Amino acid sequence: MYKDNQLLDNHGRPMTYLRLAVTDRCNLRCSYCMPAEGIVYMPERELLTWAEMSRVVRVMHGMGINKVRITGGEPFVRNGLMDFLTEISALKGLEICLTSNGVLIGEYIDQLKSLGIRSVNLSLDALDRDRFKQITRRDDYEIVFQNLLRLVAEGFEVKINAVVMKGQNEQDILALAALTKDLPVSVRYIEEMPFNGSGLVEGTLFWNHERILKELKSVYPDMKSVLMRGGETANRYEIPGHLGDVGIIAAFSRTFCGTCNRVRLTAKGQVKTCLYDDGVFDLKAYLRKGISDEELRDVLLGLYQKRPLDGFEAEKNRKGVINESMTTIGG
Ligand code: SAM
Repeated sequence: MYKDNQLLDNHGRPMTYLRLAVTDRCNLRCSYCMPAEGIVYMPERELLTWAEMSRVVRVMHGMGINKVRITGGEPFVRNGLMDFLTEISALKGLEICLTSNGVLIGEYIDQLKSLGIRSVNLSLDALDRDRFKQITRRDDYEIVFQNLLRLVAEGFEVKINAVVMKGQNEQDILALAALTKDLPVSVRYIEEMPFNGSGLVEGTLFWNHERILKELKSVYPDMKSVLMRGGETANRYEIPGHLGDVGIIAAFSRTFCGTCNRVRLTAKGQVKTCLYDDGVFDLKAYLRKGISDEELRDVLLGLYQKRPLDGFEAEKNRKGVINESMTTIGG
């Protein structure tokens, strides 16, 4: 439904944001996301084509979606990414953001800038080469950190995503916060979710949002909470004297569903109206039936009217337990 030209879902939440996973492949093997041997990747024909993705973005933009985040897998491992970005950057008023692990982004920085892309989320769970290697199972810390510095120097708005895990990167909580003193980046600590591709989940989450906050406050008692914008998932805090800020994303506790403004499209073309659902519509099959833009729009409008209230409802409605890898979803 629309109110004052704004697309709303069945709970009255403004719908403005698409997260698009352009591939399920990744060049890292982060332990919280995939088993060491990786996952079975989809054959190329099972993935949405660039043309299909462009069409969906164009139609959704026409419905009022004003922000798209390109994610994956790792977006930069799929050939054709830059042509696709060039194509969708022609859509007026559409903000294009990227989420990347930062390994391959370096050679594209100038081009991204010239396309008007200003915002990059970079995954960086540790500020130490050995811990980075242990978590990602790849020895790419140096290149990622250099690319982080280059993105900042080139004026990109950079958010660092760090999943906090017991026994793996606890010392990085404060190290990452210290990084915001001289670097104008936003560090976002993410609660670990069970999307690790194995279905194995620890009973309780040790590093939940409350514990992360307590850890930060133990060193920065004066940090100030920043008012959350609609659709924002991070509770952000400013630390006096720091150029950047810190934020906590209660991704497992799901405290922010009340203002959720996003839907996801997975690499194989499943629509997810909540991160915790198991795919509510096979858009790829529908697109390949040869449907019109009006039919595409109608089916999307219908899906927007059936969104679960929150991630707990979505999880309850799943056919099976969570055992998929985040690389197939896009985070
Ligand atoms: N390859 C890109 C990257 O590394 O940022 C984009 C895809 S990655 C799946 C997107 C985000 O999902 C990353 O920030 C990652 O930290 C997050 N993520 C993956 N698995 C997660 C999990 N089990 N719990 C919490 N966050 C997770």
